[in-house]
Amino acid sequence: MCGIVGYIGTKDAREIIINGLKRLEYRGYDSAGIALQNCENGDFNMYKDKGRVAHLESITDFSYSSCLGIGHTRWATHGVPNQENSHPQTSNTGRFFIVHNGVIDNYKELITSHLNDSVFSSETDTEVIAHLIERYSYTMSVNEAIRKTMSLLEGSYALAIIDTYNPYRLYACKNKSPLLIGVSDDGVIVASDVMACVGYSDRFVPLEDKTFVEIDGAKYHIRDIIGKEVVHKERPIDVDYFNIEKGEFSHFMLKEIMEQPAALRTIIGTYFNDDGSVRVNRNILDAIRTSDRLYIIAAGTSMNAGYVGKELFETLAEIPTEVHIASEFAYNMPLLSDNPLFIFISQSGETADLRAVLVNIKAKGYRSLTITNVKTSTLAREADHYVEIMAGPEIAVASTKAYTAQIAILSILAYGLESHRMDLRKELSKVAISIENIIDRRDYIEALVEEYLTKRNCFYIGRGIDYYGCLEASLKLKEISYIQTEGFAAGELKHGTIALIEEGTPVIAIISQRAIAKNTRSNLNEVKSRGAKTLVISTKSVHQSEDQIVVDDVYESFSPILTVIPAQFIAYYAALHRGYDIDKPRNLAKSVTVE
Ligand code: GLU
Repeated sequence: MCGIVGYIGTKDAREIIINGLKRLEYRGYDSAGIALQNCENGDFNMYKDKGRVAHLESITDFSYSSCLGIGHTRWATHGVPNQENSHPQTSNTGRFFIVHNGVIDNYKELITSHLNDSVFSSETDTEVIAHLIERYSYTMSVNEAIRKTMSLLEGSYALAIIDTYNPYRLYACKNKSPLLIGVSDDGVIVASDVMACVGYSDRFVPLEDKTFVEIDGAKYHIRDIIGKEVVHKERPIDVDYFNIEKGEFSHFMLKEIMEQPAALRTIIGTYFNDDGSVRVNRNILDAIRTSDRLYIIAAGTSMNAGYVGKELFETLAEIPTEVHIASEFAYNMPLLSDNPLFIFISQSGETADLRAVLVNIKAKGYRSLTITNVKTSTLAREADHYVEIMAGPEIAVASTKAYTAQIAILSILAYGLESHRMDLRKELSKVAISIENIIDRRDYIEALVEEYLTKRNCFYIGRGIDYYGCLEASLKLKEISYIQTEGFAAGELKHGTIALIEEGTPVIAIISQRAIAKNTRSNLNEVKSRGAKTLVISTKSVHQSEDQIVVDDVYESFSPILTVIPAQFIAYYAALHRGYDIDKPRNLAKSVTVE
């Protein structure tokens, strides 16, 4: 959600910032902006507008060189997406340019108490920060003025700041929202995500909350809010540049769907020993084993993977497991068991709703484990333990390979605890091959989409583990095709929602569980009798001859790892045929860094 890229150094700031913003587009945004210093005459220029980075590029003057600048993609929280509300925002006299990710909860109070004579040119909470810094800069150094402002701000912020009176410096600071610096011998990048630094910086330093950094060329100083130097460690950037390019694929989503067999094989190679036993840090398995209840905290697709995780922990390891919506749990905590372990699942590792829970439970002394695709992320750093899902960078907003990788990791953790009832390594290897078989049949799925998904709404129905699969299948479809879709427990539909079924309403059933297959088929008949156009995704052992999509059999407790693949293609083709922006669906952000 929102992207920040700033640069100071000897290279071309505009190129680094614009390319960086493009790499952060996947996070979701509605406006983009940049402020650059013209190295030839020292002037500062700002370009910003509602719309894409490509549009920003088209309105940016390329005729001068620049070695200092800040850029931003905004996901509006205060004020509509328009030119005035786009970032950079400026201070009263225009001395300071700032870009901001986050939400300032007390911005109205700050206006009343400190800035009631200020004139604001936007509706954003961000502009207040620029005005405050300028106000304090009259009586203290810029460094102190920024730290003083930080001490007044309540809420979340990642900030990159330029002082036009001193164009040899770039400032940045953060609380809750992600921010890091990328370092190389020619200069320093400030960015929300390491992705923006790949190819430009060799090392990076993630910034801690309430820290402030002052950058002077390739030198930087990190301080805490009272000005004390903070000890930090530079880490190598090991993301492969080619992993974040689309290559021959028309969309990142398609590329990422196709990468799932490879991601599974990477996971198998990383988390299994040659003898088929699980290779996971013992402390992590012990933390799970010694807890009396697991609390999975997640949001969106990761939560849907969490439901499958619940099934796996309960069936394989017999540990009671609850799944909770992070944004609810943070402020409505249920009664907890005596010895809980909290498992946070987040693709980006930056989800603000999860972070709010992590901070809360850490303060109460509870143990935590993060499962994430980004090992350097805030949630990975701050939990007691983390496991990396090894899916490789996922750029499309609609998650695909991270979901299947999360389920694979959850199955490995649950399997690592039990005395082995099956050979999980073999099972996951079979899944990788089965996914390839589905990928080979994608043209057929595309034809089904044309035939079946013709309405404004759709239902996915299933029972048990298939119901969990339906939640993810329906989320995928609504995220990118904007077809109003619900994932429903098949038996529940008749208790009210069946009223929505009319002639031609598409109802897709997922059926993989032997014990309850016939119950789901009865529910399917109920909707068929009321005019629904039904489509079935089933596994070989429970399929019937008229089922349209039949996938291989797989260990039942994680069957969504396979039944979701046709659903991913259904979503992809439904969006493609409607002509939507598949990788960047409207209103959505990949890395949801505001609560
Ligand atoms: N709250 C700020 C705004 O609405 C920043 C939003 C963002 O994180 O992009 O402008």
